[in-house]
Order: sequence, then structure tokens, then C-alpha cells
Amino acid sequence: MADIAVIGAGIVGASCALFLQRDGHKVTLIDPAEPGSKTSYGNACSISASAVLPTATPGVARQIPAMLRDPAGPLNIRWRYLPRLAPFLLTLLRNTAPERAAAHGKAIAALIHGVLPAYEILLKQAGAESLVQRLGALKVYKSDASFAGSQHERDLMTEQGFPFEVLNADELRQLEPGLRPIFQHAIYATDSANVTNPGRLVRVFVDELAASGGAVVREEAVGFEFVDNRVAAVRTSGGSVSVDSVVLAAGPWSRGLAARLGAKLLLDAERGYHVMLPMPETPIRRFVHFADDKFVLVPHEDGLRLTSGVEYAKVDAPPDYRRIRNMIALAAATVPDLDTREQSIWCGNRPSLPDSVPVIDRSPRYDNAFFAFGHSHLGLTMGPVTGRIIADLVAGRDPELDLSPYRAVGR
Ligand SMILES: Cc1cc2nc3c(=O)[nH]c(=O)nc-3n(C[C@H](O)[C@H](O)[C@H](O)COP(=O)(O)OP(=O)(O)OC[C@H]3O[C@@H](n4cnc5c(N)ncnc54)[C@H](O)[C@@H]3O)c2cc1C
Repeated sequence: MADIAVIGAGIVGASCALFLQRDGHKVTLIDPAEPGSKTSYGNACSISASAVLPTATPGVARQIPAMLRDPAGPLNIRWRYLPRLAPFLLTLLRNTAPERAAAHGKAIAALIHGVLPAYEILLKQAGAESLVQRLGALKVYKSDASFAGSQHERDLMTEQGFPFEVLNADELRQLEPGLRPIFQHAIYATDSANVTNPGRLVRVFVDELAASGGAVVREEAVGFEFVDNRVAAVRTSGGSVSVDSVVLAAGPWSRGLAARLGAKLLLDAERGYHVMLPMPETPIRRFVHFADDKFVLVPHEDGLRLTSGVEYAKVDAPPDYRRIRNMIALAAATVPDLDTREQSIWCGNRPSLPDSVPVIDRSPRYDNAFFAFGHSHLGLTMGPVTGRIIADLVAGRDPELDLSPYRAVGR
């Protein structure tokens, strides 16, 4: 069996490492940070079993100017980074063309079909089932008009065979009595789940890897050594790790290392924010996406997590917490007696490509290098299924999925 290094200990890297170890490989996970402490720490906790839409959809371009003007709105572009972001944003706009958006949505949905089985394998192995609540996910709408706007999404969910129910105001109140009765309609994605603490889930996966003989190296991968057109070692801040194969899963920090492995990609940070609030007396029980105001409330073991935001900026740009703090007032308008005292605040970088489709592929230049990054809004959901596919690619097994949409070249 092979010596394999996985670069990046987020949900994607940890899942790749575990699936590779299950195949008998000797796995070394390389990351200077604590496992699960970056993007995988602060997300909206949802394992979505019904995702069908990329960020770039046909209607989105029309909504952008109004969203950018609204200081409490969910969208922001840091204009000083425009020279670097321009190619990403222009490709994103091109991807709003209906046929492109449809193809990207299909690529996302194809992965979603494998999400729950892959999760089950890793949760069982790591004894982490109690970190996942299988209560479905809600998207709620204040008016008939805004609900009507979800028709396309519902059609796609039906087409993909993703189960969901449409709820009226009373049915929603029974499911989530903690919400004000101001929502007329809801989509209830019954197969979705939420993780009670995503950062801890990754730590549990990495502990399991170590307990089963894997190595965890707390160093930064800074480059590679190549012999005969193959990667022979990962150079790190502390030395080097010899490899038979390497998997690059460094989330939003993958761009530079991917270029050294032969793939130039428009991978950038699509940032998002959260604030932690105390859980109200009548708790929010499951992931709730507020379609009109574009934020999410989700239960977390430390309280109630409010997430929002799509901000295009450089991965190391300083956070701007104004918009997420503005969202607290909108949340208070939906949850009676919400205690709005901020417990903590966070900014993270979704690793995004302009088509919202992750890269799950072999390097175009080095046969023994593999890519697993760019999971955008759905990395917590897609981490384990990505790990399973990467293990298949390394083993030369048929992943039973057409992998052409996830290629590193031609995007
Ligand atoms: C506000 C918000 C809400 C979200 N909500 C959801 C949700 O509800 N459901 C969902 O599915 N997804 C959600 N996401 C997206 C999801 O969080 C990400 O797609 C996912 O966490 C990406 O995981 P990752 O492992 O690729 O990256 P990360 O978790 O960022 O891990 C990458 C790791 O690579 C390491 N690294 C970087 N450079 C190097 C290097 N040179 N050498 C070694 N290691 C390195 C980093 O230290 C880090 O630990 C959300 C994201 C945000 C921001």
C-alpha cells in the first residue's frame, strides 16, 4: 500500500484521509492549523441533501446592483481587490447563462446523491453519529410572491428525485414553533441534516485517523519535489514528507499549490460570516434559511448560529463585520425574544470557483497528484463523498459517477 500525503485538514482533507486509510494506505495529513479550525469550523452546519443551484443562476445578475447598494444586504465586493477578482467575477457573470447554470446545477446534484452514504461510513467509523441531527432543513418565505420565485428550484429538486415537502404557515409553526408566524410557505428538505458542531466533527475524524495509524503533521506545505514527472515529496515548513501520491485539499488556499501541480484555476474566496447568539427559550431546532432576507439560523451546541454573506475579497483581506451585525436585527424580527447579545463573531473563506463546482480530479501534469478543493457553499456537505471519490481515483476504481464536470482543466 502507498504513502499518501493529504494537504489540508478541513472537512474535505480529513474525509479524503479517512477514505484513503480505509483502503489500507499509510496517510499523513499536513496542516499548520488545528484540524477543522478554518472554513470548516464556522459554516452553517448543513448537510444538504437537496442542493441543485450554483451561485451563478440566470436571475442573479439582475439582483446584484440592488444587493450591492444595500448596506444590510448579503452581497459585498471589496473593490480594491477588483483587479485580481475581475476574471473570477466576469466568468461568474458568464455562468449565469441558463444552459451553463443548468449544467453546473446538475454537476452539484450528481455529487449530492452520494453525500449521505459517504457520511454514514465515516460517522460510523469515527463513532460520531451523535454530532449529526437528521431533522431536515427549511427554506422559509414571507409571501406568495417570494415562494413563487422558488418554482425553478423546486422543479430541479423534483427532477433530481430529492425529497421535499411544501409546508403552509400552520405546518411550519408545528415544526419550528420558535419562529414568528410571519412565514406563509416553506420548503422542507426532509433528507437534509445538520451537524451540531462542524469544527468538532473534523477533529473527531482526524482523531480517528490518528488512532488508526495515520500521521498528523502540523506544518505548512510550501511546495513539492518532483522526480521523473511525479511528485516525490511534499516540502513543508519543517522539512519534507516523501510520498507515493499527494492529495491537495487546502480549501481556499489551494490555488498556488494547484498551479505548481499544473492547474491554473480561478479559485478565490467567497467569504461568509457568522455570529453566535444565545439559543432562545423556544429553540430553533434545525437549519432554517430565510429566503427573503438571505440569512440562516441553525442550532449549534454552543447556541444559535446566524450565518450570512457572500463577499468577494482576497483570502487574507481583513474581515468587515458590519453586514453580519446588521443581520442580527433581521433575525430578531423573525424570532421572538431573541437575545441579540453577540457571543462570538467569525469570518471564513468559501473556496469557490466561478461555477460553484468543486475540483475532484487527478493533476493534468503529475499522475500521482490529486485535487479535492473548491467546494464553495457545500464543502461540509460534500467532504465525505469527495473523499470516497478521491480514494476511488487513487485505487483506479470506477467512482460510478461521470467526473468530467469536476475536472481541473477547461473551466
Ligand atoms: C458562512 C458560511 C456558511 C457555510 N455553510 C455551509 C453549510 O451549511 N453546508 C455546507 O456544506 N457548506 C457550508 N459552507 C461551506 C463549507 O464550510 C466549505 O466549503 C468547507 O468548509 C471547505 O472545506 P475545506 O476542507 O475545503 O476547507 P477548510 O476547512 O478551509 O480547510 C482547508 C485547510 O487547509 C489548510 N491549509 C491551507 N494552506 C495550507 C498549506 N499550505 N499546507 C497545509 N495546509 C494548508 C488550512 O489550514 C485549513 O485547515 C459555508 C461556508 C461559509 C463561509
